[in-house]
Amino acid sequence: MSLIVQKFGGTSVADLERIRHVAKRVVATYNRENDVVVILSAMSGITDNLIDMARKVTETPDGRELDVLLATGEQTTSALLAMMLKSMGYPAQSLLGYQAEVVTDYCHGNARIVDIRADRIKKLLKERHIVVIAGFQGCDPDGNITTLGRGGSDTSAVAIAAAIKADVCEIFTDVDGIYTADPNICQKARKLSTISYDEMLNMASLGAKVLQIRSVGFAKKFNIPVHVRSSFSEEEGTMVVNEDSGMERLVVSGVTHDKNQARITLKKGPDQPGIAAKIFTPIADAGIIVDMIIQNTRAEGQTDLTFTVPKGEFKRSLILEKKIATDIGAEEVFGDENIAKVSVIGVGMKDNSGVASTMFRALAEENINIKMISTSEIRVSCVIEEKYAELAVRVLHTAFGLDRDE
Ligand code: ADP
Ligand code: ASP
Ligand code: MG
Repeated sequence: MSLIVQKFGGTSVADLERIRHVAKRVVATYNRENDVVVILSAMSGITDNLIDMARKVTETPDGRELDVLLATGEQTTSALLAMMLKSMGYPAQSLLGYQAEVVTDYCHGNARIVDIRADRIKKLLKERHIVVIAGFQGCDPDGNITTLGRGGSDTSAVAIAAAIKADVCEIFTDVDGIYTADPNICQKARKLSTISYDEMLNMASLGAKVLQIRSVGFAKKFNIPVHVRSSFSEEEGTMVVNEDSGMERLVVSGVTHDKNQARITLKKGPDQPGIAAKIFTPIADAGIIVDMIIQNTRAEGQTDLTFTVPKGEFKRSLILEKKIATDIGAEEVFGDENIAKVSVIGVGMKDNSGVASTMFRALAEENINIKMISTSEIRVSCVIEEKYAELAVRVLHTAFGLDRDE
């Protein structure tokens, strides 16, 4: 007997027929003498629809009320599944985030889980209930509903798996595993049988939305094996596990792209101590996350500074920087929203040279201009023009020998 957490994403619960399919799958696991906790997303498209509706009320919806609204998506699917399971004769119960005691911080729209007091879940499991939990939602210490950011049901699932010490957390989605690149844009992508937590952390933070990054952080911290697999087939998917579990060690194991980036440049600022602090402090105070930063010193004792921010923060950042440029006496500020970041990732990079040069050559052969570069021990990223993002992924995939044999 195992304790299994099964999370089903939006496409897996898109309508009643698919929820019925989920019910059968859950029951099959339960009937093999396992204890089962199910975490559900909203039906696909519903979260977007709710956001659109709120924006029709006001351009800047109140965070608390928006979370109350968004949480209804997951409330609907979990009630329907529990209802279905009961009508099939199985003991089941749905729990909303607060009932599952998922305690978060106060950050509406992007809350972090700080604690899960899983007593109620454990009690229901002891009584052999199938516990169905609404993903993506929790509540702050004052009892207000919060949501965990887009894709947050993955994090609900892994965090709950950690809290109840589950044997495995299965993430059922619309692809049959984690691939070397998004299989929806790179037909030659290969399915990985295993991937390390660190590689997956990088893939998720660099644009692979198959798992929300925080879910991978939880999995790594609590050593929870995560099995990403298809809800439409019985096939084994990809295991996200510790690096030393005898896995294939590729130099590059994944290629990602991220279009959610924008670039800002301050031209000809003074080359003096304290200038970078003046440029970035107001951005940090505004809660804007800066990703890449490049500074070039000019011969005339001036510097150009370029950095990237999430696209949604572009306008706000540009306004802040225009004011700063005037204060510090920089010549000009300009921005570019039409960029994308492409990255190659692999733990094998640690002891292999030439990864960056292979990447630059492959992009050059397609005449793709590189606007910014950043590297870490296990990744290389380049900012390029947005319209080349998909092409760049395919080209890099081939260049690093990742293409599936036809
Ligand atoms: P769910 O609704 O089940 O949470 P998501 O849409 O959030 O599903 O995540 C699954 C999607 O992630 C896939 O449809 C695929 O397009 C995308 N994806 C991006 N990168 C990868 C990758 N390397 N491997 C698999 N899927 C990926
Ligand atoms: N429904 C939420 C979203 O669309 C959470 C999730 O599906 O993981 O982002
Ligand atoms: Mg998702």
